[in-house]
Amino acid sequence: MGSGMTMIPKPPDRSALEQEQFLKILSREEALARFDAALFPRPIPNEVRKLAGALDAPLAEDITAPIDVPPFDRSNVDGFAVRSADLSVAGEGAPVRLALNREIIHCGTAPMLQVMTGTATPIATGGPLPRGADAVVMVEHTQPSGLDAIDVRRAVSPGQFVSYAGSDIARGEALLRAGTIIGSREIGMLAACGIAEVRIARKLRVAVISTGDELVQPGEALAPAAIYDTNGAIVAAAINENGGEAILLGAIPDDEARLEAAMREALANADMLVLSGGTSKGAGDLSHRIIGRLGKPGIIAHGVALKPGKPLCLAVCDGKPVVILPGFPTSAMFTFHDMIVPALRKMAGLPPRADAKVSATVPVRIASELGRTEFVMVSLVEGKDGLIAYPSGKGSGAITSFAQADGFLRIDALADQMPAGTNAEVTLFTPHVRVPDLVIVGSHCTGLDLVTAPLAHAGLSVRSIAVGSLGGLAAARRGECDLAPIHLFDDKSETYNTPYLVEGLELVPGWRRMQGIVFRKDDKRFEGLGAKEAVAAAVADPACIMVNRNQGAGTRILIDRLLGGARPEGYWNQPRSHNAVAAAVAQHRADWGMTIAPVAHAANLGFIPFAEEHYDFALVTSRKQRPAVQAFLDALGSDEARTALERAGFRPA
Ligand code: AMP
Ligand code: MG
Repeated sequence: MGSGMTMIPKPPDRSALEQEQFLKILSREEALARFDAALFPRPIPNEVRKLAGALDAPLAEDITAPIDVPPFDRSNVDGFAVRSADLSVAGEGAPVRLALNREIIHCGTAPMLQVMTGTATPIATGGPLPRGADAVVMVEHTQPSGLDAIDVRRAVSPGQFVSYAGSDIARGEALLRAGTIIGSREIGMLAACGIAEVRIARKLRVAVISTGDELVQPGEALAPAAIYDTNGAIVAAAINENGGEAILLGAIPDDEARLEAAMREALANADMLVLSGGTSKGAGDLSHRIIGRLGKPGIIAHGVALKPGKPLCLAVCDGKPVVILPGFPTSAMFTFHDMIVPALRKMAGLPPRADAKVSATVPVRIASELGRTEFVMVSLVEGKDGLIAYPSGKGSGAITSFAQADGFLRIDALADQMPAGTNAEVTLFTPHVRVPDLVIVGSHCTGLDLVTAPLAHAGLSVRSIAVGSLGGLAAARRGECDLAPIHLFDDKSETYNTPYLVEGLELVPGWRRMQGIVFRKDDKRFEGLGAKEAVAAAVADPACIMVNRNQGAGTRILIDRLLGGARPEGYWNQPRSHNAVAAAVAQHRADWGMTIAPVAHAANLGFIPFAEEHYDFALVTSRKQRPAVQAFLDALGSDEARTALERAGFRPA
């Protein structure tokens, strides 16, 4: 791999340079290689610290032991320094008498007298062995004989109870290597060698700037069409989690002069600058234009074959990395963890983050676009043979998927899928896996939170993964969850759920929820109608737009029954949740849709009841005795849960 500078052709002028960079999409690997070549080798920023202040820091240099530890041959016990040859014949029936030399060697006293044949010198634990002695006999194995002699009834071998000089640490030995994180053990080793100060890698100062006119800092009021600056907070936290020191500079509007001033100041005070947003070709996207003026070589890669994360921009300005992450928070996180953290750690003298990677099996096939490295958000649960990684992405714009996700996996650019059963490497967002106590996989319902709340308060962690009823049943059959919430109507038997159970699963009744038509309360078109008439009227009115649900949703089955083959305006708008339907109607993007009563009421919408569905649980029988499952069953049957469910508009079974 060549240097990053030589691989970018030198263009005649700046506008040509910009064009060249836009056109050239690099592979992830090529972008990483160029970034690495432009950044390294380089010295690790470091400083000298007193031992007490060095905890948790990586050592910046190898340390060689300046002395032997212990510095002299030392007794390990309280007893007598002897010549082992004198005691070779000693035994229970044949004590050997030794004359005591007239000194006592305490800790910290240097011996004055030599131990001659037939003599012994009293010595304390830690005392230096006197000349002539080659072993120590424990005081318990001797008897005094008058005031100036002892009888020994045991033979001793040479070296017994002696720690030789340098036996713990030998002078000249490599004591600690550069990069070692200093813990209490390392502090102890350094102290034992008399080292008071060490050179450590100082924390890398990383400035963080968000860009965008629409951004508001958390804590401030949210204006219409504004959003909270999420990237600033997450990126800063992730920098700190990786041993850096984030300097959070807030959000700068899309104003070239202000942004350039902020970037210059940030770079002057930091080792690295991480921006987010404004990195596409959009008219308001400025950061990458400014980078060219901040130092050499400038942009290394702008446009990387990633999904999501294509607009990622990597640059080096006079030795300092400048990175523009994509604006969407999940894209920003994928690219930051996958491509920026390794460089940040390497610059800071930290080893790659081993604790942030785990391997897990993917239970379902994940389709992937050929030609781009794809990042897929996953939630981890404990399976029969190790961790299982459920893909849980909700699109690159969804910060909420972080709530359920533990990390992400990467699908190679040359693969068009990751087959079910693949063992994949998962990069954790926060480096420790918390395997949940209770795993619920299937259809989601807002009532679920009401039932699981007491478990969370009792310290049990609950993970619920929304994959729909059928997906939940499949997970339950594979033993990947404790419970699968389902609401599946069987046309033949005209009953809910029970016909779908297979061996190994049992039904736990949950609650009933009313499905019906939502509309805005002031929309006279629906007033006084029943569900069937309301739908018929809506279908007949071309100005009346519906919002549908996704294929596979229980609600969708009900909608299709009502529509009977009609495809009114809005049919192809198919969001994946009850709440999204209510939001579409409330925000006038649609006029009607189907959702559950509690969601309609919470959104202050009109509601026409249609059918009450049974939301029950398929329980994996083999997991029934697990404490968290018992706690869930207790909670489900409790008066508190029933009251909470009723208050929210559900009818407990
Ligand atoms: P941009 O690349 O600036 O067009 O941003 C792409 C998307 O990410 C837009 O929807 C932005 O509103 C959003 N975005 C950009 N920066 C942030 C941020 N700091 N926090 C949350 N969302 C952001
Ligand atoms: Mg923007």
